[in-house]
Amino acid sequence: LAPILLHFILSATTPYTTLPSVVLVGPSGAGKTALLTLFERGPLSSSSSAAATHTSQTPSSIELSVSANSTSSFRDDLDATGSAAKKFLLVDTPGHAKLRRHALSRLTASGTKHANGSIAGSGTAAPPSTLAKLKAVVFMVDAAALADGDALPSTAEYLYEVLLALQKRVAGGKKAAPVPVLVAANKLDLFTALPAALVKSNLEMELGRIRKTRSKGLLDSGVGADDLAAGEETDDWLGEYGSDKFTFKQMLEFDVEVDVIGGNVVGEGEGPGADKWWRWIAEKI
Ligand code: GDP
Repeated sequence: LAPILLHFILSATTPYTTLPSVVLVGPSGAGKTALLTLFERGPLSSSSSAAATHTSQTPSSIELSVSANSTSSFRDDLDATGSAAKKFLLVDTPGHAKLRRHALSRLTASGTKHANGSIAGSGTAAPPSTLAKLKAVVFMVDAAALADGDALPSTAEYLYEVLLALQKRVAGGKKAAPVPVLVAANKLDLFTALPAALVKSNLEMELGRIRKTRSKGLLDSGVGADDLAAGEETDDWLGEYGSDKFTFKQMLEFDVEVDVIGGNVVGEGEGPGADKWWRWIAEKI
C-alpha cells in the first residue's frame, strides 16, 4: 500500500505544468472571437463548434498545438502527421472598454500599485506561473474600421495601455522575459480596409499624439516629480523618452518587438488569410 500512497501524494503535490500562453487583445468587433474559432476548428479539436462572441468577464482560452519544426499551418493535423507538437493556450479577452482591465491584468504581475499600498487588479492578475509562460500578445484591429478614422483614437488608446504595461514589465531593471506583440490588421478581405503599412503608420502617429497629450496633462496638473512619493509610477511615457515622433521600433529598448501584419479571418480566397499570423505565433512558442 505504501508505494501506492506515496505515488498518490507525489502526484497530488506535483504542481501541474502551465502551458505557454498567447493573449489575444483588441477592441470589440476586431475579430478576436472569429480568429479563435478559425484556429479551434483545426483537426486537433474538430469536435468544437463555432464560438460565440463572449460577453462574460472571464477570458476564454483554447488549447492549440504548433509543430515543433514551426513551418506548420493551423490546418495541419499534427496527430496524423505524427510530428512533435508544442501545445499552447490562446487566451481571448473581452474588448469592451469597461472590461479591459481584465485583459491588462494578464500582462502585469500584480496590477497597478497605488501610493497607499493597495494593489488594484491583484484579484484578477494572472499568477506568476502563468506570466512566466506568457509568450506573446496578439493585438487585433479592424483595418476597415480604421479606414474612416473614427476607430483610430480608441484603438490606439487601448494599444497604448497594452504597450505601456509591457514596457513597465522591463523598465526599472525588472527581470521579465520579453513579450513580442503582433498587431494583426484584420479584415483585409474588404476593399475598404487599410493596408497593413497604413495601419502601422496611422497607429504610430496616434500613439505619438496620445503620448504628447498625456505628458502635457501631467505638466498641467502642476505636480512636479519631486512632489510624488518615491517609487510611485509617474512615467506613462511610451517608447524613447523625449522623442518627437513615436515609432514601434522605440519599443525595442524595452525588449518589446512589435510587428504589424495584415490578414483576414473571414472571406476564404479573398485577402491574405490568417496563415502569416499563425506562423508568427508558432515562432514565439
Ligand atoms: P471580437 O469582438 O473581437 O471578438 O470580434 P468578432 O470575432 O465577434 O467579430 C466581429 C465581426 O467582424 C463579426 O461579424 C465577424 O464575422 C466579422 N469579422 C471578423 N473577421 C473578419 C474578417 O476577416 N473579414 C470580415 N469581412 N469580417 C470579419
